[in-house]
Amino acid sequence: MKKPTYAQLARMDKSYLWHPFTQMESWEKEEILIIERGRGNYLIDVKGRRYLDGVSSLWTNVHGHGKRYIDAAIKGQLGRIAHSTFLGLSHPGAIVLSKMLLDIVPPGLERVFYSDNGATAVEIAIKMALQYWHNIGEPQRYLFVSLDNAYHGDTIGSVSVGGIGLFHSTYKPLLFETVKAPSPYCYRCGLGLEYPSCGLACARKVGDILASNEGKVAGLVIEPMIQAAGGFILSPPGYLKAIEEITKRHGVLLIADEVATGFGRTGRMFACEHEHVSPDIMTAAKGISGGYLPVAATFTTGRVYDAFLGGYGEKKTFYHGHTYTANPLGVAACIANLELFRKERVIRRLRPKIRLLKEGLGRIAALEHVGEVRQIGMMTGIELVRDRATKEPYPFEQRTGARVCFETRKHGIFIRPLDDVVVLMPPLSITERQLSYLLKSVEGAIRAVTEQR
Ligand code: PMP
Repeated sequence: MKKPTYAQLARMDKSYLWHPFTQMESWEKEEILIIERGRGNYLIDVKGRRYLDGVSSLWTNVHGHGKRYIDAAIKGQLGRIAHSTFLGLSHPGAIVLSKMLLDIVPPGLERVFYSDNGATAVEIAIKMALQYWHNIGEPQRYLFVSLDNAYHGDTIGSVSVGGIGLFHSTYKPLLFETVKAPSPYCYRCGLGLEYPSCGLACARKVGDILASNEGKVAGLVIEPMIQAAGGFILSPPGYLKAIEEITKRHGVLLIADEVATGFGRTGRMFACEHEHVSPDIMTAAKGISGGYLPVAATFTTGRVYDAFLGGYGEKKTFYHGHTYTANPLGVAACIANLELFRKERVIRRLRPKIRLLKEGLGRIAALEHVGEVRQIGMMTGIELVRDRATKEPYPFEQRTGARVCFETRKHGIFIRPLDDVVVLMPPLSITERQLSYLLKSVEGAIRAVTEQR
């Protein structure tokens, strides 16, 4: 087949496809980017234009695109087998990877259950938590507590523990019952308080919820340190630790969703490390394969795992699995990814980059229409507001955040916002020079869009 031109591809895309989280009416009118290749921290489109991958291909890419070491690992696995089932069979890669993962996750996590995306990892966590109580004879513990502004994926179970009205409210009739706790969103505190004089009142609310549902709550699901898709909302110091203590006190399982934060994004391997938190169940996906292939994992403690053991007749088995669970190609990418973390001392080498990011963000924070800049490690959210003094947001339909991101394309950058929060989450392999360029271009784009008279 002759290679199609950009115009042909764009026409076919707009005629046949439906893209995720995309208003297709405007997509059909826009000039779309069609990515053909990737090199290092750049995406290259079919016209040969390069774009700095400022959001790591949706928060997944770690060491850059076309990383030889990972490419070779996948090719090596391809020479052996592309896929064999994990239901009733095992394979060397998955076994080796499980040990490598358990060596780096927070203490107490002793088992890995594989799946293939973040939402699924969360579904598994929820079902495991519920069945844990069932299996130990406390079936009355069925409730889940989650947070306003939470995002845990788009399947019905993960939407049930989500808290973003725009994404989730339509599906309400389909969702299971949950109890929502306030989001630790200090910039727009729902309790009308200020940190630190609030004394972490939002965490205390969680305690109240657990107390008033004593004996009924199976688990609390949380994105540790930062609510990512909810707008890069950073929890105040001490919040996560307080939540851990509260869940322990009430005997509720703590489920930490590290899908976005895992694998170095926050400057530590896992966000839980910032406050020395050890969840009972933890989810990971995205960066687990270096951003190469869809692999996810749900980790549990030995205590949770043990509750599923028993004679066949006891029916304590975890009746859950996906066709591509622990896909060997994906697993090969994960192993290579973790080896690179060690070989290239990725976490240690992030420090100067995080400092540089902080400095550049200081300038952005001073702009007239920047309400707040929130950064943890290599994750940054820049909240744009119409009025800094009153924190008044821009009208939703103006798409201010999206316009800023479009503007950066002129500078050869691809970023994607969350509403009016401009997100920067480049691959951990971004160089200091590329980072400076990214910051300068984003600053220019924010000014161009928000300061035009
Ligand atoms: N949990 C969190 C914290 C996430 O940020 C995401 C994705 N942005 C998910 C779960 C869902 O992951 P996936 O898109 O792979 O289903």
